[in-house]
Amino acid sequence: MNVHEYQAAKVLATYGIPVNPGKVASTPDEAEAIARELGGTVVVKAQVHTGGRGKAGGVKLAHTPVEAGEAAAAILGMDIRGHTVHKVLIAKGADIASEFYLGVVLDRPNRKVLVMASAEGGVEIEEVAKTNPDAIVKRLGDPLVGFRPYQAREMGFEMGLPADKINGFAAIASKLYDVYFNEDATLVEINPLILTGDGQWLALDSKMSFDDNALARHPDTEDMRDLNEENATELEAKRNGISFVKLDGTIGCIVNGAGLAMATMDAVKLHGGEPANFLDVGGGANASQVAKAFTLVTADRNVRAILINIFGGITRGDEVANGIREALGQVAVEVPIVVRLSGTNAEEGKSILAEAGITAVTSMDLAAAEVVKAANG
Ligand code: GDP
Ligand code: MN
Repeated sequence: MNVHEYQAAKVLATYGIPVNPGKVASTPDEAEAIARELGGTVVVKAQVHTGGRGKAGGVKLAHTPVEAGEAAAAILGMDIRGHTVHKVLIAKGADIASEFYLGVVLDRPNRKVLVMASAEGGVEIEEVAKTNPDAIVKRLGDPLVGFRPYQAREMGFEMGLPADKINGFAAIASKLYDVYFNEDATLVEINPLILTGDGQWLALDSKMSFDDNALARHPDTEDMRDLNEENATELEAKRNGISFVKLDGTIGCIVNGAGLAMATMDAVKLHGGEPANFLDVGGGANASQVAKAFTLVTADRNVRAILINIFGGITRGDEVANGIREALGQVAVEVPIVVRLSGTNAEEGKSILAEAGITAVTSMDLAAAEVVKAANG
């Protein structure tokens, strides 16, 4: 789960990291009023769950309250990488002397937490990694002993910071590590972390992603969820007890069981296709669940064929087949459907489907090959 910059800044502030506070507005009038209250030059920033707002015109400096209102009017409603702007953050304009990057992220291969920093701040770190990888300084925090203060200081020296700025930087890096660990984040990033004209450290823009599986431990985090930023289909799936993840391919997948759903996507890819989604209908693949699944999958206009892959264990093949037949009566599906059915009562299931004009196969490999052909045909 992701949160907005203004929300991430609040979390960082509770750990004692210096942030540039501000207020959020959803209309130009509100933005103007906040700018008047703050006084002086302000920055108006789009609040959307994506980076690169600066480049897209979603970050504007305003020298007067009227200008701030105009900037907000220009930014609100803007589309930034597929995200519509509903809110802007108004904060005091910062006097930037230099920009840095500081991030903490899970390093799966090393099974540790990676702290990264760079003197090439303000630009996307992926870009720095591509064009100038040596400019990124890295240290691993140990899951048991944590991220040690000496590691943070070493990073500062390696980045070429002036000696009198090392301790300030190290303190922020250590605090950011604590934020990551205590909040069950998967990513915490400050970009840019700046030195102001009068030599103060300031987190000017921050980003946080949280581990969904740990949200039960953090009710406050859950409260920060912005439904405008969530995929509507994924939300609808969650409400119906279906695990669904939207992907970019053309083959819709309806499967019982998470492991089988993963294997199904592999099989589709093996035959040269691209899955349009991950979907696990859960245990009881009854008519209403299958109908829901059809609705979710066909809501995606990229879907050109659907693969239903059911292995009957506790779930019985005949029940699933009845479910599919009934669901097709409830939801109009206009793309070809390929069914793979095996396990408990698969033969009974196949004859039920045959009555409805659908041929089901037993082999998952064959089904994957057929659905790819159908999608391409
Ligand atoms: P992002 O593009 O989505 O990462 O948005 P940022 O908040 O990082 O802003 C992008 C860039 O705008 C920063 O790297 C700064 O160069 C500039 N910027 C942001 N806030 C201020 C500010 O208060 N004053 C000045 N002078 N520049 C700012
Ligand atoms: Mn940024």
